[in-house]
Amino acid sequence: MDFRFTGQEEAFRREVDDFIQRELPANWTEETLYWPGGYGTIPDFEEINPATEIFRRKLAEKGWLAISWPEEYGGAGRTHIEQAIFHERISYYRATGPDIGTLISGPAIMRFGSDEMKREWLPRIARGEIRFWLAYSEPNAGSDLASIKTSAVEDGDDLVINGQKTWSSGAHTSDYAWMAVMMDPDAPARKGISLVIVDNKSEGITIRPIINILGLHSFNEVFFDDVRVPQRNIVGEKNQGWYYLMVALDFERLVVAIGGMRRTLEELIQYVKGTSRNGQALSCDPLIQDKLAELAIEIEVADMFFWQTAWMLDRGLLPNIEASVLKLATTELSWKLANTAMEVMGPYAQLERGSKWAPLGGRVCTGYLDCISALVGAGTSEIQRNIIALRGLGLPWS
Ligand SMILES: Cc1cc2nc3c(=O)[nH]c(=O)nc-3n(C[C@H](O)[C@H](O)[C@H](O)COP(=O)(O)OP(=O)(O)OC[C@H]3O[C@@H](n4cnc5c(N)ncnc54)[C@H](O)[C@@H]3O)c2cc1C
Repeated sequence: MDFRFTGQEEAFRREVDDFIQRELPANWTEETLYWPGGYGTIPDFEEINPATEIFRRKLAEKGWLAISWPEEYGGAGRTHIEQAIFHERISYYRATGPDIGTLISGPAIMRFGSDEMKREWLPRIARGEIRFWLAYSEPNAGSDLASIKTSAVEDGDDLVINGQKTWSSGAHTSDYAWMAVMMDPDAPARKGISLVIVDNKSEGITIRPIINILGLHSFNEVFFDDVRVPQRNIVGEKNQGWYYLMVALDFERLVVAIGGMRRTLEELIQYVKGTSRNGQALSCDPLIQDKLAELAIEIEVADMFFWQTAWMLDRGLLPNIEASVLKLATTELSWKLANTAMEVMGPYAQLERGSKWAPLGGRVCTGYLDCISALVGAGTSEIQRNIIALRGLGLPWS
């Protein structure tokens, strides 16, 4: 096996690196609170620092929000390996760019949408003109997503939607919901669900904030009261939404911050080299050496899964079990990275951004809280293990 990049891939990696270093707001990498794998600092990107929006527009101009999409839909027509190279670099610099539209909704529309739907939505997503939020979870439907109750009833050319979604990340900063609805509650399990795109500006939508563990407004609960949506916004065929959802969830699980994890490990190594306790550098402590070596091994393993999934996509294969393995490995790694940093840095790790004594710009303190989110979002670790056991190992459903 040979994991080396081709000459073209190496050149693209350098081009991306140069671009990010030139265009990303000064000091962004040091100042952002973003923790690799965490969901909770989304507002840090989208509200607190509007400069990142300018960066995102520049990415869109290059077609880099949708690197592996065909050029006819506004993409850069590159390979999935090149897309992975881009994501690895973006996360290494803790930068922003591709989002739910480019990473989840767009690829699902490309696979399942009609030609008309592709023409209508894909170029706008690729240009970064519109943003999506994921409207799947409900108060009584999280892991058991098939039990959603939000209904969509056909009425002429429209659907009329009633119900509630929750934990809706970024619903307040997005333009459209990428939404799972129940169209046929009498159908056998999972056969009555459809996927539909809903305009946030539609009458009857109420968005209420939920404040996350970091004290930031990153997600919401969203109510739908007689919301009318054109039936042409149904993705693919009606009542086939469960299958589309599963594939869209696999796309979501491929979005991992492998570069950010590597960078955080590098910073931890710098920290232990530059910090002494009781007259001795932390880097000389064999317990600390063990912990950092363990992290390095796990990052290397996650890295292999990361490139494997890109390689599969380039061959027309759909990573399914692999998506769950990658999601599980990287989110548990995100948690371990934060916990190791806490152990190594001791009480200093609890200092927040603003304190001159806060290591890593206060990111460990927020990362320790934020890393929990990824163990739950996009399907909990337990659910990923179930998928691996059932689909990967062929074990029976219990
Ligand atoms: C930060 C964050 C952002 C999120 N963003 C979004 C979003 O944008 N859009 C959206 O739709 N949803 C979002 N979610 C919701 C997320 O998808 C759900 O929280 C998740 O699927 C779990 O569902 P639940 O919270 O209802 O927990 P439950 O499903 O009630 O699970 C509770 C516990 O039981 C365990 N469990 C449940 N079923 C099984 C089983 N069969 N086998 C073993 N263990 C099981 C779970 O692992 C968990 O530990 C977000 C969640 C978080 C934390």
